[in-house]
Amino acid sequence: MAKKKERKNKTPSKRYALYEKKGDVLERKNTFCPKCGAGYFMARHKDRLTCGKCGYMEKN
Ligand SMILES: [Zn+2]
Repeated sequence: MAKKKERKNKTPSKRYALYEKKGDVLERKNTFCPKCGAGYFMARHKDRLTCGKCGYMEKN
């Protein structure tokens, strides 16, 4: 049986950073695309948000 190393520095998946649980409600931190609607996150860039689906861009 292989010995499993215990990881002390657990880095949570970044996917979880998009959500924040507040009680029973799951709050999304990212902005949804206004054109594509809920479910399509805007990709965060340095100074803007873009939608990978429709190409919509929003300046910050
Ligand atoms: Zn879009």
